[in-house]
Amino acid sequence: MSVSAPSILASSASTAPVAVIGAGITGITTAYQLLMAGCAVVVFDRHPYAAMETSFANGGQLSASNAEVWTHPSTVLKGLKWMLRADAPLLVNPKPSWHKYTWFAEFLAALPRYRRNTVETARLAIAARQHLLDMAEAEGIDFNLERRGIMHIYRDRASYEHAAKVSVLLQEGGLAREALGPDDIRRIEPTVQGTYYGGFFTPSDFTGDIHRYTAGLAKAVERRGGVIRYDAAIDALRLLDGGGAAIGWSSTLTGERRAEPFSKVVICAGVGARRLAALAGDRVNVYPVKGYSITVMLNDEASQSAAPWVSLLDDATKIVTSRLGAERFRIAGTAEYNGENKDIRADRIRPLTDWCRRLFPGVSVEHVIPWAGLRPMMPDMMPRVQRGQHPGIFYNTGHGHLGWTLSAATAHMIAVMVTEDMARKR
Ligand SMILES: Cc1cc2nc3c(=O)[nH]c(=O)nc-3n(C[C@H](O)[C@H](O)[C@H](O)COP(=O)(O)OP(=O)(O)OC[C@H]3O[C@@H](n4cnc5c(N)ncnc54)[C@H](O)[C@@H]3O)c2cc1C
Repeated sequence: MSVSAPSILASSASTAPVAVIGAGITGITTAYQLLMAGCAVVVFDRHPYAAMETSFANGGQLSASNAEVWTHPSTVLKGLKWMLRADAPLLVNPKPSWHKYTWFAEFLAALPRYRRNTVETARLAIAARQHLLDMAEAEGIDFNLERRGIMHIYRDRASYEHAAKVSVLLQEGGLAREALGPDDIRRIEPTVQGTYYGGFFTPSDFTGDIHRYTAGLAKAVERRGGVIRYDAAIDALRLLDGGGAAIGWSSTLTGERRAEPFSKVVICAGVGARRLAALAGDRVNVYPVKGYSITVMLNDEASQSAAPWVSLLDDATKIVTSRLGAERFRIAGTAEYNGENKDIRADRIRPLTDWCRRLFPGVSVEHVIPWAGLRPMMPDMMPRVQRGQHPGIFYNTGHGHLGWTLSAATAHMIAVMVTEDMARKR
């Protein structure tokens, strides 16, 4: 459905505020950076609160060490093998879908850029750290920050040796990490059980609760004069002559429809970005790659001391963890290509609880909160931080499996782009 904007909108767009679509981590950090740069900002989201979609219960890792993009021939081979195993980290619904097929074709086309994109992602992730910490400090946000590093663990020689090659690319991007033997793994995180070939430790990486952070920063946006229109589902964009755009939306609560002009619109809509980009005449081929998490409630002292504080990435299962304060342990993983489907499947949650029981047998999984979210993934794994074809449209989206890690940097970048553009027109 589409609403047309009244003609009066065109003349008022140049003096209008900047709109940000999406109140996840990308939208809220963008809104904050725009406010700090002196713009008037209105954020839209279809939910009644911030961070209710993918930025709700992710793996928690702020991980430059996970900057390796997936567009590597070995990932394609592993993926094909995994398709034959029900409990594998990857699941692809074979049902034909034009969106999925074009996405996979572009994924394969991005293989030659593996090296460059991995180095660039590491650089971005490092650049994001200080922005993220500065915003939290300025606004007094408690988000269960744990600065204890991230340890990657490997069960066989081949995967360890591949990781050693990745370390060279990460180093090129500015990230140092330490090679570990099996004894080092136990020294760094004594709670972890099992036999490992080796690992890599990145002391400068950290973890925290993305939902707490985003919700805290959303409050700061409002305190600083930004407006957040919750319960507002956007289904129309009208590109105005002279640069602005009018947004049409309906209230998810009352059904009331409205249209409003903006000088610029920044699309930060996660898996909704593809549809909105099409309304603006652009193609942003975000695919929703589903992942699951469990939050293990550490309700007793024994579980609290048997759960790790150092964040882990187990390469064989592609599972990541983070300790969110004394009482919560987050475990996340799996990639499912099944369209915009957020069903929480018991057979995909089970491998996460079993993994917890195997590696941390002293942790009770009696009280576990399951969750599923959709990673807004571009085929080349690189976020889109760019202008649209129309001068009123900008994108900060497509952060895939690393939105928590990268958003603080890309928000800063897009805010600079938008404000420079506005300054040029003055
Ligand atoms: C299982 C799992 C584990 C993960 N672990 C990590 C990790 O450890 N580290 C890391 O860095 N990243 C991780 N990620 C990725 C990270 O969570 C995402 O990249 C990030 O949350 C995406 O943020 P976003 O703001 O782009 O999208 P979202 O948080 O989904 O926000 C988009 C917002 O746009 C709104 N919206 C969309 N369309 C419309 C519309 N038409 N009208 C109104 N509102 C609209 C939605 O309601 C939503 O609130 C993980 C993801 C998953 C699924």
